[in-house]
Amino acid sequence: MTATPSSFRFDNSYARELPGFYVAWEGTKVPEPELVLFNRPLAEDLGLDPDTLETADGAAIFAGVTHPEGASPLAQVYAGHQFGGFSPQLGDGRALLLGEVIDTHGRRRDIQLKGSGPTPFSRGGDGKAVIGPVLREYIIGEAMNALGIPTTRALAAVTTGEMVYREGPKPGAVLTRVAASHLRVGTFQYFAARGETDKVRQLADYAISRHDPDLAGAPDRFLKLFRRITERQAELVARWLLVGFVHGVMNTDNTTISGETIDYGPCAFIDAYDPEAVFSSIDHGGRYAFARQPRIAQWNLARLAEALLPLIAPDDQDKAVDLASTELARFPEVYTAYWRGGMRAKLGLETEEEGDQALVETLLAAMAEQNVDYTLFFRSLGTAATGSPDELRALFADPAAFDPWFAQWRQRLAGEGLAPDVVRTRMDRVNPLYIPRNHKVEEALAAAETGDFGPVRKLLEVLKTPFTERPDCEAYTRPAPASFGPYRTFCGT
Ligand code: AMP
Ligand code: MG
Repeated sequence: MTATPSSFRFDNSYARELPGFYVAWEGTKVPEPELVLFNRPLAEDLGLDPDTLETADGAAIFAGVTHPEGASPLAQVYAGHQFGGFSPQLGDGRALLLGEVIDTHGRRRDIQLKGSGPTPFSRGGDGKAVIGPVLREYIIGEAMNALGIPTTRALAAVTTGEMVYREGPKPGAVLTRVAASHLRVGTFQYFAARGETDKVRQLADYAISRHDPDLAGAPDRFLKLFRRITERQAELVARWLLVGFVHGVMNTDNTTISGETIDYGPCAFIDAYDPEAVFSSIDHGGRYAFARQPRIAQWNLARLAEALLPLIAPDDQDKAVDLASTELARFPEVYTAYWRGGMRAKLGLETEEEGDQALVETLLAAMAEQNVDYTLFFRSLGTAATGSPDELRALFADPAAFDPWFAQWRQRLAGEGLAPDVVRTRMDRVNPLYIPRNHKVEEALAAAETGDFGPVRKLLEVLKTPFTERPDCEAYTRPAPASFGPYRTFCGT
């Protein structure tokens, strides 16, 4: 395949340093690549020239039809526990890592195409993606980024001009994804399951060089790497719960080493607060339900620990198990500390007091009981800090039952002695007004399927500044109307 000159300046450490961890591969020809979304600010951040990429040449690159000069396209191999069962051989079945660029902040970032055709890891799949799931990943990833949550991001979405069969024919599409790396728990598991300890070590050292370079060369670096990954995952999942996000498919191949959220498939934000919320049509047992996510993250980290054991104390596996278990056991503590801090901020509290946990628990129980919209509640609580609680009370079917909590919160807040408008400003900074509401996402995707990208663009625009109220965007703040029914998402392949 010929390479197209472009503003990408690749430096492909994965291809260079990790032979045996991938298969060099290329994208599949498609009839008519068309660029439907392009993330100019992200392109600029990556040091790219948006003007030369927002073109037909750019569309061909983002469809995987041509490769930009300097790319070393490859499909990465990995394994993973999917819904608890181990698949020893997964890998990029429909993705290609084009390479890495160093962004304008000096950070190394992967550029990956998702939906660019079959690879040796496709396992009978067609290697393609369709417009709905591609735009969904684009929208939710960008929303998460704007909410300040570590995430992979979307640089471009193209349609391919071919129809791809899912539950009927759908327009084919390719997403260009940007990530701190695509190293997953499952990448380690692949080599560990094959007993290839040298490769696990090589991968761990590579992960250290990318994500924790200060650990390089230290004798206990593998245990410390595990600690860092545990901390990143604990913080990440705490942040998910603080904004009401359900990932939906927390398999170990979808658990990053970087601490970024990855693979937006059957994910969704809750409207009414519900610890048991499940949106994925394939998650029958509720394994990945909203409030189970911290436990699942810890379970996934246990699988990572198993893969790393031979590195942690090579001559003494009992000791390795002890050391790794101690780190793993810290997960609930790290998670809880982060989550509690986040909850206090959501309530406008600056200090920590003994009764805070009970205050939070009583609130969440009342919200679950009365199906209160999670996002609107916290935003309206900020409003109530300065003025009337009417808007807040109206979120409850039985507002009188909520009044004692409200009085208690007011009293607790008054104890901090801050001016109400200061409290409100602080609360508005952590309690988003705009999240990707399920019905708004579906409405935008349905329009896109008919070729109208206006609603997707508008939604992306609103989600860019989730904490700042804007005129005429009220419709984006409301939960789904009852007619929308219970929300189900499909795996989105
Ligand atoms: P996911 O559930 O999207 O994280 O994907 C799990 C595995 O299935 C990964 O190895 C994917 O590459 C692979 N996969 C998903 N969809 C397809 C597809 N349409 N064709 C080939 N492989 C796929
Ligand atoms: Mg995946």
